[in-house]
Amino acid sequence: MIRKSLLSLLLIAIIIIGALIIFIAKDTRQFILIGVDGMQYDHFTTMLSTGKLPNYQRLIDNGGIATSAQIAGHIETSTAPGNAEIFTGLPSSITTITDNSCGKSIPEGLTVFERLYGGDSSIALGLIYGKNTCYVPQSLLAHAKPIIPWWFDMNNFSPKSYISPSYADSKDISLKALEFLNLNKKNSFFLTIYYGVPDAAGHTYGENSTQYDEALINTDQALGILLDWMKENDSKISMIITSDHGWNEGTTEHSQNTTNTRTIPLLSNDPSIISSPSTKYQCSIVPTLYKYFKIKSSIYTDITNTGCFSMY
Ligand SMILES: [Zn+2]
Repeated sequence: MIRKSLLSLLLIAIIIIGALIIFIAKDTRQFILIGVDGMQYDHFTTMLSTGKLPNYQRLIDNGGIATSAQIAGHIETSTAPGNAEIFTGLPSSITTITDNSCGKSIPEGLTVFERLYGGDSSIALGLIYGKNTCYVPQSLLAHAKPIIPWWFDMNNFSPKSYISPSYADSKDISLKALEFLNLNKKNSFFLTIYYGVPDAAGHTYGENSTQYDEALINTDQALGILLDWMKENDSKISMIITSDHGWNEGTTEHSQNTTNTRTIPLLSNDPSIISSPSTKYQCSIVPTLYKYFKIKSSIYTDITNTGCFSMY
């Protein structure tokens, strides 16, 4: 009789522990946001359709999607305003970031990092950034940096440089990112990865140069490192890939606001999270992240501009 009761108790304990494991596993949310600096949408799609970007293609072939988004919240299509919109979902009238002025910061409390932390401090935050200027990433994200424990920019990490000392080889950025992924296999996390090299090639050699092609291929190889890791680890990480701005056709510049600079690539390995609306916006990325991480909407009631809502 006692043995039977003990057996029943053991069975109940096993069921409860099993249910807890399933609950915890189900609630683990893992997201990588990849920014690629200055990837012109038309140039990207041409290279994709001619088979020059096999890893972006692999992401699409494995159930992902490649589409585009529009910049609507700032006028000058340059890096600091683009990064500000990607990392806040807010227009430059609120972020105050209208150009690449040195040393400016997004006002305290507006970034996706700070708001995710405020909504759920159990989400592990990481950033690895392959470009180093007087405006990104340190100054722009100065208020977010203290709450990102796993922060690597080119001041506390020395990747191989690419074209100029201000830009990192994207493959080294991905290899560093694997350290974060290995540390956080079982945790909910939000990791930002930033590849700078198309911007370096575009400014030095122009958009229609072989060096610009090679820079996009460099980001493709870097993406491959992440996709290989995800495959080996049977990972279900959700991913969005986008750009801070496009490129003025055939030039070494991108700050003139034209269709080519306003239109940016938007890719995901999980089409369900960017399924609507048909016209997508750069400002929608952050609200999509808030929905993904189930952050209560009262934390981001200031994101009200047209189109700046979750894409699913
Ligand atoms: Zn840029």
